[in-house]
Amino acid sequence: MQAEAGTLFVVAAPSGAGKSTLVNALLEREPAISLSVSHTTRLPRPGEQYGRHYYFVERAEFEREVADGIFLEHAEVHGNLYGTSRRTVQELLGQGRDVLLEIDWQGARQIRAAKPDCVSVFILPPSRAELERRLRGRGSDAPEVIERRLHNSREEIAHAHEFDYIIVNDRFEDALADLQAIVRAVRQRSALQWRRHETLIAELLAP
Ligand code: GDP
Ligand code: ADP
Ligand code: 5GP
Repeated sequence: MQAEAGTLFVVAAPSGAGKSTLVNALLEREPAISLSVSHTTRLPRPGEQYGRHYYFVERAEFEREVADGIFLEHAEVHGNLYGTSRRTVQELLGQGRDVLLEIDWQGARQIRAAKPDCVSVFILPPSRAELERRLRGRGSDAPEVIERRLHNSREEIAHAHEFDYIIVNDRFEDALADLQAIVRAVRQRSALQWRRHETLIAELLAP
């Protein structure tokens, strides 16, 4: 029998919408999902660890990796380069694990082209004022970085309709329940279930 393939989830949002907080809470509830750790040329924020939040690399090294074809997708976001390792994603999917990518809309487009079966989710903030409040309240970025991210949020949001699902992250617990509902519904799709429960179905169909 062919190795069972996991599902590839893609989550995007304008910076500050709550994407990482939601994804981390989802992973606590759904430990069978693996988060893909991206490579980036951005400098680490206080508390961010190499290999846990990102693989932080120099621009020259990133460009070498692009040339070597190690990325399944890569893009420039807010002036920094970000990319998803092809090998990590393939290995996890091949083991039958679900994999989640936290990437921008440009990367999501590349993933849809490479993996048409992926499931993509876009997170919206409940208002512009709240997006700004969250970005400032997070206290992780310099004022000019925050301005740039707010400015770029329009471009990101303009692509939300390309995603399979859109969640408004107003009340956190509601948004988390919606995200979890998507993951759980996807796992019960009949094409997957038919393969997964081959033995059960054979037994039920036996004369
Ligand atoms: P955040 O806005 O707090 O998540 O800030 P980050 O600096 O961690 O991420 C900046 C942007 O880069 C976000 O839009 C991410 O979704 C995007 N991003 C992160 N990793 C990747 C990646 O591997 N590929 C792509 N294409 N985008 C990424
Ligand atoms: P992103 O990954 O989209 O840039 P974060 O997950 O870092 O965003 O969230 C930005 C800030 O907003 C964080 O300080 C987080 O605690 C807060 N936050 C996230 N979701 C909510 C919510 N539903 N209500 C209030 N604050 C939130
Ligand atoms: P941050 O620098 O705040 O961690 O992330 C900023 C943006 O970069 C986020 O919107 C995030 O989704 C995006 N991003 C992070 N990793 C990747 C990646 O591997 N690929 C792409 N395309 N975007 C990424």
